[in-house]
Amino acid sequence: MDIKKISHIGIAVPAIEDHLALYSGVLGLELTGTEVVADQKVKVAFLTVGESRIELLEPTSDDSPIKKFIDSKGGKPAVHHIAYEVSDVEAALAEAKEKGIRLIDEKPRVGAGGVQIAFMHPKATGGVLIELCEQH
Ligand code: ZN
Repeated sequence: MDIKKISHIGIAVPAIEDHLALYSGVLGLELTGTEVVADQKVKVAFLTVGESRIELLEPTSDDSPIKKFIDSKGGKPAVHHIAYEVSDVEAALAEAKEKGIRLIDEKPRVGAGGVQIAFMHPKATGGVLIELCEQH
């Protein structure tokens, strides 16, 4: 698979505001933007770390998958996914499928920043949710 780098690490949090003091204030990471991704029922904030980023994910409704994830962690923030940057998400998905990897997204969808993203199924990836995404 044509992986370029770790694009970002997604961290699920109950409220982004409560975590900016740490990520921005203490760690000194630059907040490059926030965005609501309506179809995923999340608000995201990206903070730059060198050539990669931290993505804070806040649920925007009670039936958000991120809300369910946080609830499964006792209501506490937790690492949600690792995103790898690839040059072509569709080609990477086809390759993973050919190698017998179960996918959440059979086709790329539009994620934060308008880029193509797709998730592999954590049951096929050792329990760690893997996102494939094109360059932001
Ligand atoms: Zn992500």
